[in-house]
Order: sequence, then C-alpha cells, then structure tokens
Amino acid sequence: MIAVRSGIGAPGGRGRRERRHHGRVDAEDFRQVRNAVRQLVRESVVPREEQIEDEDRIPDDLRAQAADMGLFGYALPEEYGGLGVTMSEDVQLAMEFGYTTPAFRSIFGTNNGIAGQVIAKFGSDEQKKAYLPRLAAGELIGAFALTEAEAGSDPAGLRTTARRDGDEWVINGSKRYITNAPIADLFVVFARSNPDERGGRGISSFVVETSTPGVTVGPKDKKMGQAGAWTAEVFFDDVRVPVDALIGEEGRGYSKALTVLSRGRLHIAALCVGMAQRVLDESVAYAATAQQGGAPIGRFQLVQGMLADMHAELLAGASLVREVAARYDSGEDTSVGPSSAKLFCTEMVGRATDSAVQIHGGMGYLRTTPVERFYRDARLFRLYEGTSEVQRVIIGGALLREAGMRRDPPAPHHSQARGGPLQEGR
Ligand SMILES: Cc1cc2nc3c(=O)[nH]c(=O)nc-3n(C[C@H](O)[C@H](O)[C@H](O)COP(=O)(O)OP(=O)(O)OC[C@H]3O[C@@H](n4cnc5c(N)ncnc54)[C@H](O)[C@@H]3O)c2cc1C
Repeated sequence: MIAVRSGIGAPGGRGRRERRHHGRVDAEDFRQVRNAVRQLVRESVVPREEQIEDEDRIPDDLRAQAADMGLFGYALPEEYGGLGVTMSEDVQLAMEFGYTTPAFRSIFGTNNGIAGQVIAKFGSDEQKKAYLPRLAAGELIGAFALTEAEAGSDPAGLRTTARRDGDEWVINGSKRYITNAPIADLFVVFARSNPDERGGRGISSFVVETSTPGVTVGPKDKKMGQAGAWTAEVFFDDVRVPVDALIGEEGRGYSKALTVLSRGRLHIAALCVGMAQRVLDESVAYAATAQQGGAPIGRFQLVQGMLADMHAELLAGASLVREVAARYDSGEDTSVGPSSAKLFCTEMVGRATDSAVQIHGGMGYLRTTPVERFYRDARLFRLYEGTSEVQRVIIGGALLREAGMRRDPPAPHHSQARGGPLQEGR
C-alpha cells in the first residue's frame, strides 16, 4: 500500500491526493513525482549551484523544500512515511538529481540509501518505528559508518569492536570519510562483535545516536569536489548502547552492508547518467555559440565528434541503468548488474566531464564554469561505494564462480583471507 504524500507529487502541497492501491506508486503518480523533482532541480537548485560551491553548504531553504517534497524518504517504506519507490523508479529520480550539484542529493541520500535501507530492511519493528518516520521527514539525518583506515575496499578487515557487557554493547574504534557525519543524528555503525571470527563473519551493525556519550565527529574533510556534501571521521570511545541497538542478527552486519551497497551502486550509476546529460547540455550550448574565426566552434567536426561520443555513451549508460534496475526489481540480478552499471557509468561520466572541459577550452578550466565543477565532482564516483577496480573484481569473480571456478583457498596475509573486497556471498 502506498499513499502519495502531499507535496511530492504536487509542489507546494497543492493538489493533495491520497491515491492508495496495492503495491507501488502508480505510473501517473510517479510521473508527477519525477516532474516535480525535475522542476525543483532545474528551477531551484541549478541557479544556486555557485552559491552552494562558494558556501560549501546546501541552503536551509533548499533543504526545507526537499523535506517538504518528501525527498528524505522516497526510497523508505510507505508505512513509515516514505514513498517506497522501486529500483526502476529510484534510478529515474537519481537521473534527475544527477543534473545538478551532487551535494543536493547527498543531503537526503544517506537517509534513503545506505543508512536508511539497513534499518528498513533489517531493523526491528521498534527501530523502524523510532527512526524511519523521522528520517523520511528529514527531521533526522542518518549516516552509514563502515569505512576505516585500512578497511575501505576490504571492509571485512575492520577493527572497530563491539563488546557485550550485560544489557549493553560497548563500541570502540573509528571510521573515516563518513558522508553527512557532521550533520548526522544517528549512525549505522559496523563493528566486530565476535573477535574469534575473521572476515565478514563476526561483524554486526548497530544504530548509534550521535548524542551518545563517547561519540565524536571530526572536522569536515576538505575535498576535491562535491562542495556542500560533507564527510568526516567518527570516533567511538567506550560508547555504550542498549542491546536493542543491534540491527538484525548478531554477526550478520557485513552481509547487510553488501545488500545496501549493491542498491547504492545502481543509484550512483543513474546519478552519473544525469550528470553526463548536464555536461552534454552545457557543451552543446557552448559549442553552438562560442566563436572562433567568426563562426561557432560547433562547426568543427572534431568538436561535433566529442559531442557525439558523449551522447552515445550517455544513451548507453541510461539504457544499462534502466535494464539493470528492472532486473534488480525482478530479483534476477542484485549484484553483478549493479556493479556493471556503476563501473560503466562512473567511468563514462569521467570521460564526459573531461570532454566537456575540452569543448569549453580555457573557459573549461575556470572555476566559474559549471563543467569545471562537474569535472571535479565526478571524480568521486569511481572511488566510493566500491572503486572501479573493486567492481571489476566483483563482476569477474562472479562470472568465474558461475563457471565453476573455486574461490582462492584462504591464505594468511592475503586480503581474501579476511573477507576480500566488497563481494556478495562472503
Ligand atoms: C567523499 C567520500 C564519501 C564517502 N562516504 C562514505 C560513507 O558514507 N560511508 C562509508 O562507510 N564509507 C564512505 N566512503 C569510503 C569509500 O567507500 C572508500 O574510500 C572506498 O571504498 C575506497 O576505500 P579506501 O579509500 O580505503 O581505498 P583502498 O581500498 O585503499 O584503495 C586504494 C586503491 O587500491 C585498489 N584496491 C584495493 N583493493 C583492491 C583489490 N582487491 N583489487 C584491486 N584493487 C584494489 C583500489 O581500487 C584503489 O585504486 C567515502 C569516501 C569518500 C572519498
């Protein structure tokens, strides 16, 4: 059952509808949602991009508009205040979000994605009731705390510990690069609860509120791009949480991380398609008007060639994302497809932003030119939620296992012995 909230299908809350039906949001309602998102992105966020870049923050009024439209919970279940979109719908929204500065999506990205999904999929009824409605409303910000120093591509080697002490868990350790940490109200924290287990086994996940004594968030990181999206280190120093802060089964935290990261990869692939569309639009507009020798640079066939390659690759990425999302929804492929889409689309947008800078010539190197900003912003996509190399390891490994090849035998001092990079089935 799903209710179309006021606002999201009707900007400003006008035209409130309460269309309920079995299953997901219907096609017409979703079309309205997507149109409202497109309008918000293109009319309200795009004109503020330079301000977001300069101030390194999302203005409060834009955050409020996103909350009013229900964007903090579009992927969370309807019974907890979200819209419960399918993956096929999620990627369509992500393509819209990708058209502007990634920081806008980031402010509600962890609520809908990596943090919120762990609670939605694996949390107890009490945890869902306590957190999901407030995450969906944008009253709380959730962050996903997995990565540590020396445990990034291979998070199964994480060192944060959770020790049971009576009715409490005591968490010690530190995390780094945690998106939204400086504004987070709660963390979904991954910690080793069983020191005797190696690799992914023995890792559990916990909801830890930022206000819990012993939780400290470091200063926000200075990054190459994506200004306005904040990351920071998070420290857990004898942090005591009640036993019911454990999410799902003890020792199953790693597989939860893999499940939500897989969904996140497909979402990121779709963001990249949106960004590629934006830099293509910027480049076409520039090539059609910027003059050399008394005529637009777009008359040069080598410039046309760059535009053509960007367009063909963008279409390929968009088609790939839609196909993989449909297979994700049907349950046919929730791992290799998302990794393939992330690999292709993140590399594709890297080429697209590079060509966009090239087409803009010297102008493309100036800080005030949007494509210069997108060139820096795009670089992150190949790094987080699994690097391109990790996606290749996942895809190649899965294909070979399907063909009957056995995993490497465990060997001391080899990363695979600890769990290996983010691969499902570990
Ligand atoms: C802006 C930003 C936001 C982030 N947000 C979050 C967040 O919200 N939550 C969170 O938990 N994490 C977050 N991360 C962490 C991110 O997921 C990791 O940085 C990423 O997975 C890479 O890990 P690493 O930095 O430790 O690099 P490493 O794993 O040290 O990788 C270094 C190089 O080695 C290669 N490599 C490593 N292992 C293999 C292998 N097995 N095979 C081939 N090559 C390999 C990598 O591909 C890469 O080229 C964020 C990072 C950034 C920069």
